[in-house]
Amino acid sequence: MTQTMLSARLHEYQKPLIVENVKVPNALGEGVVVKVGGAGLCHSDLHLINGEWKNAIPLALPKTPGHEVAGWVEEMGNLVPKGMFERGDLVAVFGGWGCGSCLACKRGDEQMCLIAKWPGLSQHDGGYSQYIAVPSYRFLIKVEGSRLRPEEIAPLTDAGLTPYRAIRRFRHVLVPGTAIAVIGIGGLGSYGIQYAKMLAPNSTTIAVDRSDKKLRFAKNLGAEHAIKLSENTRKEVMEITQGRGVDVVVDCVGAENTISASVALLAKGGALTLVGLFGTKICAPLMSTVINEYQITGSLWGNYNELREVIELAKQGKVKHTIQTFKLEDINNAINLLRNGQITGRAVITPNQ
Ligand SMILES: [Zn+2]
Ligand SMILES: [Zn+2]
Repeated sequence: MTQTMLSARLHEYQKPLIVENVKVPNALGEGVVVKVGGAGLCHSDLHLINGEWKNAIPLALPKTPGHEVAGWVEEMGNLVPKGMFERGDLVAVFGGWGCGSCLACKRGDEQMCLIAKWPGLSQHDGGYSQYIAVPSYRFLIKVEGSRLRPEEIAPLTDAGLTPYRAIRRFRHVLVPGTAIAVIGIGGLGSYGIQYAKMLAPNSTTIAVDRSDKKLRFAKNLGAEHAIKLSENTRKEVMEITQGRGVDVVVDCVGAENTISASVALLAKGGALTLVGLFGTKICAPLMSTVINEYQITGSLWGNYNELREVIELAKQGKVKHTIQTFKLEDINNAINLLRNGQITGRAVITPNQ
C-alpha cells in the first residue's frame, strides 16, 4: 500500500474542504482498512461543514467527513477472524459504530449507542478519502453475488437505509386501503418512495415536493400520486384519500413548514415519522394531535440488520439507483450543487477514480 492518500478535509467551518495528502491509516486489532469505492454526500455533511452542529458534535479539526461508504477490503488487523474477509472483498460500511455492549447495541440498534462513534461525525475520519479505517470488522457487510458497484452501495448505507427503517417500523399499520406519503424527494425520499411500494404494496403512495422535476422523478419511481407542496397540498391529499388523510407520513426534509404540512395530512391515529434534519423544532397543533391520537416520532438512520435487508433488496434488483458521481477533487462542486438543490438522487464521491 502507498504511504499517503488523498483526503478531503474540513479545516475550518463554513469553508470549502481541502483535498490534501495525508497518511494512510493502519488496520489495528479487529479493525479493517477499506479502499473507498464510493462515499455519498449527505445533507448532514452540509450541516456539519456549516458549523451548525459544532456544539452538538464537537470535532477536532481537521476532519474528513463522509458517513456513507462502500469499497473494498484493503488490510485487516490481526484480530479479524481468519477467513471472514479477503483482501479485495466488496463491502458496505455500516456507519452506526456502537460500543457493542450497551442496551441499545445489545438490542441491535448500534446507531443508537450511547457512545456511538460515526465515521466523519466523531473522532473517526470518514469516507471522503482514498482509504478509511473501520474500527471493527463487525461494521462491514460483504456484498457478494451481484453486479452492484460501490458507488451504488454507498448511498444504501444512509440515504437508502434511513427511510427503510422509518417505513419498516410502521409497516404493520399499512394494511390494504391505507395511504403513505413521503415528503421531500431528494436523496432519502427517492428511496422512501420505493420502500413504500415494497413494504406497503397495498397502500396508496403519495409523493410531496415543491419541485415539479422531483415530482416527475417520484412518479418514475412508482408513486401513484405526486403532489406539489403548497397551500393546496392538504386539499389534494384529502381528495385522494376520500377525506381520511394519510396513515403514515415520512418527512425527509424536517423543515418547520414541511412538518406542519405533514401533520395536516395525517388520518386519525396517523403517524408522522421524522428523518430529515433541516429545521430546528417541531410545531404541531395540540388539540388535533390529542383528539386524533397522532403519533409524532423520530427515526434514526438504521441498524445493521436493516442495512443487510436493504442490500439484499438491491442485490435482487429491486432498488433503483439514481446517483451522480464526482471525483474527490470536485467535492466542493458537489457540495455546492447539493446546497442549491441541484442534485437528483444522491451525489457520490469516488476517491479512487
Ligand atoms: Zn447522512
Ligand atoms: Zn453501545
